[in-house]
Amino acid sequence: MNHFTRKNIRPSTPARGSNLDRRQIKKKESTLDPRLFVKKAQPSGQDGFRTEKTFTALGLSPKLLQNILAKGYETLTTIQEQSIEPLLQGRDIMAISKTGSGKTAAFLIPIIEHALKDSRNYTALVVTPTRELALQIEEEFKSLAIGMSLYSATFIGGTNINSDNQKLGRKLQVIVGTPGRLLDLSDRGVLDLRKVNTLVLDEFDRMLDMGFILDVSKLVTRIGKRDQTLLFSATMEPGQKKLIDGLLANPVEVKVSNGASTNENIEQQTIRVPEGHDKFDVLADLFANPELEKVILFTETKRLADRLAKKLIQSGIQAGQIHGDKSQNFRNRMIDEFKSGDIRVLVATDVAARGIDVADVSHVINYQLPMTMDAYIHRIGRTGRAGKVGHAITFVN
Ligand code: AMP
Repeated sequence: MNHFTRKNIRPSTPARGSNLDRRQIKKKESTLDPRLFVKKAQPSGQDGFRTEKTFTALGLSPKLLQNILAKGYETLTTIQEQSIEPLLQGRDIMAISKTGSGKTAAFLIPIIEHALKDSRNYTALVVTPTRELALQIEEEFKSLAIGMSLYSATFIGGTNINSDNQKLGRKLQVIVGTPGRLLDLSDRGVLDLRKVNTLVLDEFDRMLDMGFILDVSKLVTRIGKRDQTLLFSATMEPGQKKLIDGLLANPVEVKVSNGASTNENIEQQTIRVPEGHDKFDVLADLFANPELEKVILFTETKRLADRLAKKLIQSGIQAGQIHGDKSQNFRNRMIDEFKSGDIRVLVATDVAARGIDVADVSHVINYQLPMTMDAYIHRIGRTGRAGKVGHAITFVN
């Protein structure tokens, strides 16, 4: 058991904020112990990430293999080695695998193989908690399925539902979406969930918690009998075991990392901001270090995210922000600019913490203590991906 188990979380002294965030902190205070956020990286490097097994050895359809190799994937990652073969055989799966471990391809590769066998009668539904994750999954699918006449669409909130009707006009082999919009389309009678052969719940710990469980249960009931159910997540809540058992039939269980721990590739440190010091000044000073190349800065509130992005820009640091009040178009644009390096800092609330796969995020900074350990784990999981060493800095008072 390491530092990151719930047992070690105990109340600490209340956080006191700088001028910039005092108002927000008054409302809600994190009770997590700051000592939890200090940890040396134990880099596993590419060795821990990838196995020796090549994609060529899997006996995949030539076109799919060609697309995988064109993406630069040569050997399987650990999660891929443990899940692709059972999934090709049609098994259900429950997989615990840290973010950035290659889990998207782990479920998409078998889905594409199944779709190629009977494209007219095959549908996979991938349900995710966030819009960004949904879009990323479809992007990965499209690159893996180039030239195969397989079709996909993403259905997420915050977009025009009428254009969804159009997308549903054709046979889709892969449907990705967030629960609310999928249910809405099913209510309108345009999405026939009974046709789903393979159901994937990505970030399933979140899909089964209070915020989503009602919607997800409805979706599952409407889907009814299906060939395969796949659950993927970085963490697992012991309290969800019954729900999980109810979804799966004789599943393969794969645990690539300890579901309660953070990525070993992440150097974690705290910075104490003494009372009277302006936290923003400390933050701005950090950016004098060029090693902070691509940074996600987390805040608890949308308003603070807006204000920090503005102040960073005023200090000459290229920054942008994403949170729930921003339109989907705006959020996509920010992520694109962050990916391409046009902006150095992406200020985000937790909406961005799940699933965003931006390569080479050098640092994650928590401007305030996160409210829960899960939020912390998912936030810092944005860095230290694909075997690289990442850095997490958490401000404490
Ligand atoms: P994921 O865990 O699905 O978010 O994937 C994390 C990152 O690993 C993504 O940027 C993928 O493109 C990359 N990736 C997935 N599988 C492999 C592989 N077999 N070899 C190299 N990179 C991979």
